[in-house]
Amino acid sequence: MLEKCLGAQRVRRFQRALRHCKVTILCLVLTIVVLRGTIGAGKFGTPKQDFLDIRDRFYSRKLPDNHRHLGELQSTTSEDSTSTTTNYNAFDINTILVDEPDDENGEKLNPHEPYRLGPKISNWDEERSRWLRKNPNLSNFVRPNKPRVLLVTGSSPKPCENPVGDHYLLKAIKNKIDYCRLHGIEVFYNMALLDAEMAGFWAKLPLIRKLLLSHPEVEFLWWMDSDAMFTDMAFEVPWERYKDHNLVMHGWDEMVYDDKNWIGLNTGSFLLRNCQWSLDILDAWAPMGPKGRVRDEAGKVLTRELKDRPVFEADDQSAMVYLLARERDKWGDKVYLENGYYLHGYWGILVDKYEEMIENYHPGLGDHRWPLVTHFVGCKPCGKFGDYPVERCLKQMDRAFNFGDNQILQIYGFTHTSLASKGVKRIRDETSNPLEVREELGLLHPSI
Ligand code: UDP
Ligand code: MN
Repeated sequence: MLEKCLGAQRVRRFQRALRHCKVTILCLVLTIVVLRGTIGAGKFGTPKQDFLDIRDRFYSRKLPDNHRHLGELQSTTSEDSTSTTTNYNAFDINTILVDEPDDENGEKLNPHEPYRLGPKISNWDEERSRWLRKNPNLSNFVRPNKPRVLLVTGSSPKPCENPVGDHYLLKAIKNKIDYCRLHGIEVFYNMALLDAEMAGFWAKLPLIRKLLLSHPEVEFLWWMDSDAMFTDMAFEVPWERYKDHNLVMHGWDEMVYDDKNWIGLNTGSFLLRNCQWSLDILDAWAPMGPKGRVRDEAGKVLTRELKDRPVFEADDQSAMVYLLARERDKWGDKVYLENGYYLHGYWGILVDKYEEMIENYHPGLGDHRWPLVTHFVGCKPCGKFGDYPVERCLKQMDRAFNFGDNQILQIYGFTHTSLASKGVKRIRDETSNPLEVREELGLLHPSI
């Protein structure tokens, strides 16, 4: 009958197709049986459960166990296990961030007494010298003209208000770890509010004092804001230049001492020598810091006395300009305002030039040709209210990060595909003689 309708040849083709079909189905069945055996899906479950288990297997990297746990803990309203991911998203971070009632307030000092960073210390130079003599293995100089340096940075104890901000904090610390590893610098990351009165940008003061006193072996402490990144991995600070100075900030003498301009210097990246003079300037710097009325009132003074300063509470940078301008005689000769390279570099004037720099120059210069530091002043990637659109900030932070990271990756034969890209590509072929590889910048085993 079939033969009559379709013709003998067509029937044979039809039968062959049918046989292929059978083999395919058989293979499919076998595959499912094997899959169920190996990955254990569906041992107890329905086909839906099988599907879920398999899906979880494939997505397990995106959704680690502990996260799933948190998600499940929260799944009081959901009946369907398909919503594991949804549960996770619905998880409210605040449930594990419950503050002690007075977490933020700390012990309030007597408001009538002027604020102090700590008990008066006046013989630190002698104390420290004695300690150094007793501990010759922990010398404050690791080599002539190479002081022992501690890079100190930090961020708020709480997660970022803008959730993606935490990712940028991670990038920024990764970047600092890279630079410091290459330059023999230790890193201290602080997330504790050591003194409740000195919250926000003033938090660095009590922290710095504590670290200077706890680490007599450290000759220079390098404070660096969390929103600043190293963009020249090869540049070594010219330590010799500062042998007669105790505080090094990026800035200009005329802008600070003559104009009293609030941006005459920047306190986002500076070097402070471990000595009595530094403890003294910290004490002189701190009184405008205590939050609340003191800080608000001091803000008014600073806005009135300094050039171009907007109206806002007292900040550490304005307070430093004000202190130096008023008491130049007392502090000026030990303060080095550096502008020969970018100890701090304002991102606005640098980030659009990275491609040009790559075209024309090379790492190791530290200045406008290849800036040591790019600092995202006013960006507040972690907070909600920055001075610039957050999108522009994050995009440019990625570019700065990749610009710096390329200098690290090139050591290993890779580079970012572009400054905008997370992705990387090879720049050297793999070799069977790995120890023969010469990388351009000599950063793999730096002599510095
Ligand atoms: N910071 C801190 N703890 C806090 C808040 C801020 O250690 O609770 C540090 C952080 O490193 C931050 C710096 O203070 O980078 C100064 O603030 P920011 O960079 O936002 O000020 P800007 O450079 O924009 O003036
Ligand atoms: Mn900053």
